[in-house]
Amino acid sequence: MKRAVIIGAGIAGLATALRLGRDGWHTTVVERAPARRSSGYLVNLLGPGYDAAERLGLTAALATHDVGLFTTVLVRADGRAKLTVPSAIAEAALGERAVSLFRGDLEATLYAAAHDRTQIRFGTTVTAIDQDTDGVRVMLSDGTTQEADLLVGADGVHSATRTTSFGADHQVDLPYIVGAVPLSHPVADVPEPSATTFIGPGRTAAVVNLGPQRSSAFFTYRCTDPASELKRGPVDALGTAFGDLGGGVPDVLHHLAQNPAAAYFDAVSQVIMPRWSTGRIVLLGDAAWCVTLFAGHGAALALAGADQLGAALQRHGDDVPSALLDWEAGLRPEVTRRQAHARRGMLQYAPPSRFHVWLGDLAIRALTLPALRRLLQRATR
Ligand SMILES: Cc1cc2nc3c(=O)[nH]c(=O)nc-3n(C[C@H](O)[C@H](O)[C@H](O)COP(=O)(O)OP(=O)(O)OC[C@H]3O[C@@H](n4cnc5c(N)ncnc54)[C@H](O)[C@@H]3O)c2cc1C
Repeated sequence: MKRAVIIGAGIAGLATALRLGRDGWHTTVVERAPARRSSGYLVNLLGPGYDAAERLGLTAALATHDVGLFTTVLVRADGRAKLTVPSAIAEAALGERAVSLFRGDLEATLYAAAHDRTQIRFGTTVTAIDQDTDGVRVMLSDGTTQEADLLVGADGVHSATRTTSFGADHQVDLPYIVGAVPLSHPVADVPEPSATTFIGPGRTAAVVNLGPQRSSAFFTYRCTDPASELKRGPVDALGTAFGDLGGGVPDVLHHLAQNPAAAYFDAVSQVIMPRWSTGRIVLLGDAAWCVTLFAGHGAALALAGADQLGAALQRHGDDVPSALLDWEAGLRPEVTRRQAHARRGMLQYAPPSRFHVWLGDLAIRALTLPALRRLLQRATR
């Protein structure tokens, strides 16, 4: 039986464990966190990601977590409505083959499907990696050594596997901060079920009220020194960047201050690498190609990447290095396209000026015209 060690029990790692487990591999997943993460932010799964979810047999389970479509109201800084974007716009953008769910629910679905075919070691990291033509040896922080045919680094945008095996120069930091706040209670000043979105020069704040345990907020802003913003922490940094806003935002910031550990708070970086594998070591998901939230396809690419990796390994039998090269050649054009899309998308989330905000509003108004929705479909999928 072929053996794989997978580093990271996020979307990419669990999807890889699921696919390889079904293909008859023995897999061990090594996860730094002491337990599975929950909630997180809302993720749209469409295009190649939805296709991969279907091939992995996940769509029925994912559908039970689908938050569905909701109206979004574009608001002014004080929270007053500027423009209502009907759910039909989201429907046109996402199409029928799509699901919107919390990242934690996607991970939970993957975990439920994969956990009886894999061994997951929580609270564990990799201390050393060594490979030759016959195999790869992975030393773990629990003192054990794993011998494997394949090592998959699925340890996210700040991947230690990438730094150890490929060097430290592949992360391209962009001048943006992102914060996502899961909310256990319905949000004041945002009718349920709906969302409000404020887009101003250099920043966006979106508050989604879908009821208790299903609400969340999302913030992103442009800044000159992301590292010092991160040092300030989410309460101070997001409070300073968005504390002047009205509507549901004050309630969200209050909630954030009660439980800052629940928030996702990070700088925005892309990962751009000339190669995703070396010998029997491969990177997958954000570790290899982080496209950023501005692309809206990172989770989708993680699923598609895992599924296609399994297919390539099946095609190439024992020749793991050739399978990895073949897999990369098939996937790279889509990743490159999504990374370019994300760089353009930054303007949408953090317009450089009031004029750009006005242009963005105009574009959204235009999309409420049915004839223009087809264009939106082509741009999104
Ligand atoms: C606000 C926001 C909105 C988004 N919206 C969308 C969307 O609508 N659609 C979409 O497709 N994508 C979206 N994305 C992107 C998507 O969430 C990511 O691309 C996806 O989660 C990447 O999955 P991953 O498994 O590669 O990495 P991660 O989710 O980061 O998982 C990595 C795992 O590795 C573990 N780990 C890290 N280091 C180590 C180590 N040294 N040893 C062991 N384990 C380790 C971590 O604890 C984690 O469990 C969004 C992202 C953000 C931030």
